[in-house]
Amino acid sequence: MSDPIQTLIHALTRLPSIGEKTATRLAFHILKTPSESALQLATAIQDVKEKVRLCARCFFLTGEEFCAICMDPRRESDRLCVVEEPLDLLAVEKARSFRGRYHVLHGALSPIDGIGPDQLRIEPLLRRIGDEKITEVILATDPSVEGEATAIYLARLIKPMGIRITRIAHGIPMGGELEYTDELTIGKALANRRDL
Ligand SMILES: [Zn+2]
Repeated sequence: MSDPIQTLIHALTRLPSIGEKTATRLAFHILKTPSESALQLATAIQDVKEKVRLCARCFFLTGEEFCAICMDPRRESDRLCVVEEPLDLLAVEKARSFRGRYHVLHGALSPIDGIGPDQLRIEPLLRRIGDEKITEVILATDPSVEGEATAIYLARLIKPMGIRITRIAHGIPMGGELEYTDELTIGKALANRRDL
């Protein structure tokens, strides 16, 4: 029979930035924790795998059909901020300077990795622009080669629709990732966005 502690340590080491030492510490912490709260953690992990799905409108993560941001009537309904990943949305939210809604592409164009327009949520984005009477699209893809290529590609598609299309400014370092950028920089980048 396998050792349950070793199994837990092994599972924990597969998490990002958790080494053998931290995993061991966490495993023994969980062992000492009252059953109730330890099981809460287990249930939370199970729920996240079973219940979380993509918002039917913006493709952010949600436990319902639509996410909390899409359902919030206080958000401006005519502006969309386009990001690559759900974590990028959270980073922009933390900056607290954008009051519109989002659209999550789930990646960026990368021909080398076989990621073309069909692998991203681009079709639904174009549909939303028409259906939701969007007046401005802010392209907040990463300032990486892929993110830039994606922004240029989207700008070309959206421009003929006659709405304002902007790109966040580069307070964000080239090659950087939105997810790891502090909220002040993101706030500035949004405020200084330029028209495309
Ligand atoms: Zn949503």
